[in-house]
Amino acid sequence: MAKVRLEEIKRRFNNVTAIEDITFEIPDGEFWVLVGPSGCGKSTILRTIAGLETATSGKLFIGDRLMNNIPARQRDVAMVFQNYALYPHMTVAENIAFGLQMRKVDGKLIQERVATVARSLSLEHLLDRKPKQLSGGQQQRVALGRAIAREPQVFLLDEPLSNLDAQLRDDTRAELKQLHQELGITTVYVTHDQVEAMTLADKIVVLNRGRIQQIGEPQSIYALPANQIVATFLGNPPMNILSAKYTNDGFDVGEQLIAVPEFIKEKLQLRPGQNYDLGIRPEHISINNNSTLSTQHSALNTQHSALSVEVKVVEPLGRETLIRASLPGSTVLLNVQLGGNVRVSAGDRLSLQLDLTHLFIFDSITGDRIFPESSN
Ligand code: ATP
Repeated sequence: MAKVRLEEIKRRFNNVTAIEDITFEIPDGEFWVLVGPSGCGKSTILRTIAGLETATSGKLFIGDRLMNNIPARQRDVAMVFQNYALYPHMTVAENIAFGLQMRKVDGKLIQERVATVARSLSLEHLLDRKPKQLSGGQQQRVALGRAIAREPQVFLLDEPLSNLDAQLRDDTRAELKQLHQELGITTVYVTHDQVEAMTLADKIVVLNRGRIQQIGEPQSIYALPANQIVATFLGNPPMNILSAKYTNDGFDVGEQLIAVPEFIKEKLQLRPGQNYDLGIRPEHISINNNSTLSTQHSALNTQHSALSVEVKVVEPLGRETLIRASLPGSTVLLNVQLGGNVRVSAGDRLSLQLDLTHLFIFDSITGDRIFPESSN
């Protein structure tokens, strides 16, 4: 096991800068997840750590050792890809043992290692099968087992669950988490799935266009996203973003006003006539059952504000109901997460209540969060 440190890593491919100014240190034994939209540079970072890509500039350390010029096979890392390739003519046991045999590890030790790995991944009953006799999830576990058997200093996992169906994906995700708790091997995990990122990570690194947007624990990033990219990437359905112009009466979002509570005005110097982007998560919007809140002015001194909407789509999911609703005078569809027993239909007109204690305000040009301010 070892810490992994990247210092100002940059990778260019001809005219394309795939990653730039990538700096972070993963402490020994932690599980870090790299997330971001397609093409943001996740795989390039992982492949650079593995030694499959060469950084154009910057330094990479595994433990205290500078790795820039160390070939991949000497880095003591194990990588599992989305398209894991098992050796089709070998049994599960032989596949798991392969890396150890190549390193001429003692036969008895190999047997013990294979048995331990098979036990931790529930593969014991499959050891004599060939890959084509396994399900996709079992094959993926063998690929993980092959990597684990080597007992590398660092695990590098590139979308390892994306070929699995939903149920298997959930199960394997939980197994991976348990496995990491048992083995404590430093892990870098690439995904575009924010649920995997939130559930697996000690720390999440959110990337966009080759640059780091934010690094932090899943809950802190969710609670205080640095900018709109992070805010809308983590969370499903995503945070709603409303373009607004500030007037002395409140935020104008088309044909309606969102009243600005005092606790925001006290903290933030809002300028009349200026545009802001407002962010509110779907779980912080509810149906307004309180008629006294239904006008903006009566809401002025409360921590709520009401918006009239028309329901466009209803998605009942049992435990919750998701709706998409349009605001008059705006093309934005609001994502709203309501209770499972709510009865609404497409075409209904509703008054929705925004819980402004959970309102985010972003700079409309840079997208950076300007409210709430960071607590530190
Ligand atoms: P995805 O989620 O789609 O796998 P990613 O976040 O892993 O994407 P990368 O594969 O790291 O992204 O690619 C980052 C950028 O670098 C992209 O714009 C990609 O087109 C470019 N890129 C990656 N490899 C090469 C290459 N060999 N030659 C040229 N451009 C490349």
